[in-house]
Amino acid sequence: MRILYWFKRDLRLKDNRGLIEACKKSQEVIPVFILDQELLQELEGPASRNGFLLDCLRQLNHRLEKKGSRLYGFYGQPERILDRLISELKVEAVYTNRSYSWQGERTQKKVEALCQKKGIIFKDFNDSLLVPPEKIQARKVYSPFFRLWRMALAGEDLSVWPEPDRLQTPELNWPSLAETFRLVSHQTNRYWKPDYAERRLKQYDFKGYDEGRNQLDVDGTSRLSVAIRFGLVSIRQVLARARKSLVMDSQFVKELAWREFWYHIRHHFPWTENLEFQEKRRGLKWLNREEDIRALEEARTGYPLIDAAINQLKGEGWMHNRARLVVASFVTKDLLLDWRIGEKFFKKYLLDYDEVVNTGNWQWSASVGADPRPFRMFNPVIQAQKFDPDCRYIKKYLPELKKLSCRQIHSLELPEYYPPVVDHRAATIRVRQVYLNRA
Ligand SMILES: Cc1cc2nc3c(=O)[nH]c(=O)nc-3n(C[C@H](O)[C@H](O)[C@H](O)COP(=O)(O)OP(=O)(O)OC[C@H]3O[C@@H](n4cnc5c(N)ncnc54)[C@H](O)[C@@H]3O)c2cc1C
Repeated sequence: MRILYWFKRDLRLKDNRGLIEACKKSQEVIPVFILDQELLQELEGPASRNGFLLDCLRQLNHRLEKKGSRLYGFYGQPERILDRLISELKVEAVYTNRSYSWQGERTQKKVEALCQKKGIIFKDFNDSLLVPPEKIQARKVYSPFFRLWRMALAGEDLSVWPEPDRLQTPELNWPSLAETFRLVSHQTNRYWKPDYAERRLKQYDFKGYDEGRNQLDVDGTSRLSVAIRFGLVSIRQVLARARKSLVMDSQFVKELAWREFWYHIRHHFPWTENLEFQEKRRGLKWLNREEDIRALEEARTGYPLIDAAINQLKGEGWMHNRARLVVASFVTKDLLLDWRIGEKFFKKYLLDYDEVVNTGNWQWSASVGADPRPFRMFNPVIQAQKFDPDCRYIKKYLPELKKLSCRQIHSLELPEYYPPVVDHRAATIRVRQVYLNRA
C-alpha cells in the first residue's frame, strides 16, 4: 500500500506516532510537508519563525535521507495540494498526526472529506498530547481537570517509540525544499536552531525548576516550548525525562498539564477562539488607544520590565513566562487594551506561538477566561523588584539603562527614558470600574 505521510507540527522521526504507524502498515511511505500559505508569519526579524521552520525541515529531510527517504515540501493550500498528489501518485492512504487547534482542525476536516471523496483511507493519530481531550469530561477549572488528567494518564501508552528503521520512498521529480522555500520570505533564525531541542532535553536540570522558574535573570525554565511546538521532541519524551527527577505532582508536570488544559477548553468550548469564556466579562469597555498600542509595540511604555520583555520577544522570538504574565496584565488591565490585541502581538513574534495556548493564556491573564480567579493585577515595578532584583534582565534587554543603578530603575527615576504611558496607581482604580461594574 502506498501511504502519503503528512507532517505538520511533528518534525521528527523518533516517537512520531503517525509516521511509525504508517511505516508499520507499508514500506512505501511518501513524507510530505505543506507550507500553509495562510499560516505563515507576516513579519520578519532576527528570530524569524519561517527561518526556524525551514531549519527544522532541513534537519528532518537530512534524517529521512539517512533512512533512504526524503521530505517533499510544497507551498499553498494543503487540501488542494493533497488533492493533486493523491491523484498523481495513486496514493491509497493519507496518514497524519491529529491537529487539535482551531485552524488545524478546520484544514484537517477538509483533507478528511477529500480522502473520503476519493475513496482512500485517512488516518490520524494522537501524538501531541499526553491525554487526548475527548477522553476527559469537560471541566472549567484547572485543579479538577488536573485530577482527572492524572487518572487518565494511567490508561495512556506513554512509552517512547523508536524511530522507523527504513522508509521506501519513490524518487519523484518534485522541487526540493530549498526551491519551495524560495517562494516564501524568510531570514535565517539567529537565536534558535532545531538541534537545541534534544540537547536541552538531555541537559536541562529539571530538579532546579521550582527554584528557578520565576526568576527572570536566570536560565531557570526548560525553554522546551519551541521544541514542543514544532514537535522536535515528543511530549512523551519530555514527560519521561522529567519523571527521571520529578514526581508526578511536581510543578513542571503541572505546567505540561496546563498546556493540555487549554486544549481541553478548546475541545469542549470551541467558541472561545474569539469570544471570552466568561459570559459576564464579554463586551468590556476596552480603551484600545492607538498611542498605547504603538508604545507597546515599540517597547517604550516607560516601565523597564515591560519594555525589556518586549525587546526579548521581538529580538529572540521568545519571552520568559513571568514576563508574559506581567506584560499581559499590563496590556489588558493598565492599558485596557482588548486581550485580542495582545494575542495578535504575541502571535507575530513568538516562536512557540500556539493559537490554543496563547488564546487560553491571554484570556486567563485578562481575567475573562476559563479557570477564573479573583480579580488581580500585577504591579510592573514590584514584579521587577521581586523577579529581577539586580536588574540583570532589564539591563540585558534595555542596554540604554546599563549605566543607571538598579535602585534608580526600580524606583522609575529614569531621567532620559520614556515617561510611563500610564500611571499604575490610577490604572488600578480605572480597571476596577471597567471590570467590576460588570461583575
Ligand atoms: C499571555 C501568555 C501567552 C502565552 N503564549 C504561549 C504560546 O503561544 N505558546 C506556548 O507554548 N506557551 C505560551 N504561554 C505559556 C508559557 O509562557 C510558555 O509555555 C513558557 O514560557 C515556555 O517556556 P518554557 O518552555 O521554558 O516553559 P517551562 O516553564 O519550562 O514549562 C514547560 C512546558 O510547560 C508548558 N507550559 C508552561 N507554562 C504554560 C502555560 N501557562 N500554559 C500552557 N502551557 C504551559 C509549555 O509547553 C512549556 O514548554 C503563554 C503564557 C502567557 C502568560
